[in-house]
Amino acid sequence: MALPAEPRFTLAFGRSRAMEQTRTNGHANGSHVNGHGQSVGAYEGGIIEKRSPVTGERLGEFPITSREGVISAVARARAAFASWRETSVEARLVILDRIKEVVRTHGEEYARRISEDTGKPLVDSLLTELMSVPLYIDYYRKHAPKILARKKVATPILFPGKTSYVEHFPVGVVGIISPWNFPFQLSMVPVVSALIAGNTVVLKPSEVTPITGEIIAEIFRRIGIPSGVVEVVQGDGTTGAALVEAEVDKIFFTGSVATGRKVMQAASKKPIPVELELGGKDAMIICADANLERAAKAAVWGGLVNCGQMCVSIERILVEAPVHDRFVELLRREVAKVKVGGPDEHADMGPMTFPKQIETVERHVKDAISKGAKVLFGGERLPRPGQFYAPTVLTDVRPEMEIYSDETFGPVLPVVKVRDVDEAVRMANEHQYGLVGSVWTKNVEKGLAIASRMECGQVTVNDVIVSVGNPALPFGGVKSSGFGRYHGPEGLLTFTHQKAIMVDRGWAKSEPFWFPYGRKYPAMREVFHGLLSGNMARALVGMVKLKKLGD
Ligand code: NAD
Repeated sequence: MALPAEPRFTLAFGRSRAMEQTRTNGHANGSHVNGHGQSVGAYEGGIIEKRSPVTGERLGEFPITSREGVISAVARARAAFASWRETSVEARLVILDRIKEVVRTHGEEYARRISEDTGKPLVDSLLTELMSVPLYIDYYRKHAPKILARKKVATPILFPGKTSYVEHFPVGVVGIISPWNFPFQLSMVPVVSALIAGNTVVLKPSEVTPITGEIIAEIFRRIGIPSGVVEVVQGDGTTGAALVEAEVDKIFFTGSVATGRKVMQAASKKPIPVELELGGKDAMIICADANLERAAKAAVWGGLVNCGQMCVSIERILVEAPVHDRFVELLRREVAKVKVGGPDEHADMGPMTFPKQIETVERHVKDAISKGAKVLFGGERLPRPGQFYAPTVLTDVRPEMEIYSDETFGPVLPVVKVRDVDEAVRMANEHQYGLVGSVWTKNVEKGLAIASRMECGQVTVNDVIVSVGNPALPFGGVKSSGFGRYHGPEGLLTFTHQKAIMVDRGWAKSEPFWFPYGRKYPAMREVFHGLLSGNMARALVGMVKLKKLGD
């Protein structure tokens, strides 16, 4: 496949062009610390100082895009919108399909850089970050033309000779704000979806993972997407806030509930639509008839992959009393096998990505212990440089503990003993969050019935997390986990407005309901009573009379 040689993509910063795509050195006069505990210096928009989660060493500095830089990026995206929306969906997909080739060619180098940025194992960078994006592109390549096509819908007999359609048109310039835990996937999938639907995009990746922000900019440069169609503005919360306030037409936000509230509040001033993909406290229900060995392995992977820094992580394990002790013993055995280390150590679990996150884990574990939880495994930082926390299992966990009520976002598996399935479902649902859940039983029909009772956006039966990886399934939460859906058909439609169209093809010759009303009332009564009593023959007779009176 031939890729265009000329880069036409822009990475926007608030300062001079010379700073584009540059990891800077120095210039940190008068530096201060941003919300993520990272050092911010004295550029107009400030500086992000990136440190390794594995060793703590300084990896580089990244300029923060100023408010003016954001406004310019949005203006470029606005200018590019007119021609991008006129490009057919098939032609957009031909351009975006080049991402697959770039990811295939540079995938292992990108995996190393994403692992450097986040601390996650290389396997995770390939599997959960890089590989998922081409899968989504393939799915949309096959289905997008149909999803976005105009569709004919039913027209009632009241409107003879008319046909009705629904079509979709792009919202315009979409602001996408993403988090640090899956900085590639959670930026690229919404960006690509918005682009396929005909929008142009300004992406604000997380300040915690600016190296991945660079990779994304690089990919769009490499595929030669027309100028302005994708803009990347690196920066922290001030850059994100500037993006919400700029002239964008929709905000797609993935992050914490606290920031989601701010985003929604700011968007309400215009108002523009927002989609919020927020946190989770996902429940795993272990029924007494579950395959406990498989469930224990699944809990350990589902709770510790990406060091538990996942919105879809197992954060509460609700186990039926008769199998509680046996399950906990299996869990302890499985957790003990987890190898912890940096990306170069062939470990299963890496460090936590940034300092603030490990502090939350420490606070939750301490609070749980003070309220009676028992540490079955781990429960402390590991004595080595970087942000390493031991894989941890807590038992005797109760709802009044922070580890139960709040999102921990770390490598902790809190276990709760429940009387029966009804209590498990009640506890799973009586929570502020409702993102993902899982049910474990050898009786699949029973598992499906329990899944239907769970108040959340996705459920797996006898599995964990996997539903997120299926591009055909809608993803999103309820309650404090946010609203809106992406992935699947919804993943394109969420970046469009619907338009209803009705056409009169001139077949009916006359209009039964137009003026003059004259002597139409008795015929109108026939239609009214016929339709409302379900007597279609009577309604049709009324319609014929109305039509004659209208001729
Ligand atoms: P965060 O809310 O701190 O930051 C998210 C993004 O918002 C970052 O890019 C940040 O710079 C930006 N931001 C900060 N203040 C802003 C403001 N005032 N206006 C606009 N943007 C602003 O979240 P995080 O710590 O990066 O991510 C972790 C959270 O994300 C967890 O709660 C996790 O559950 C959630 N998450 C949800 C999903 C999902 O799909 N539901 C996926 C991954 C992570």
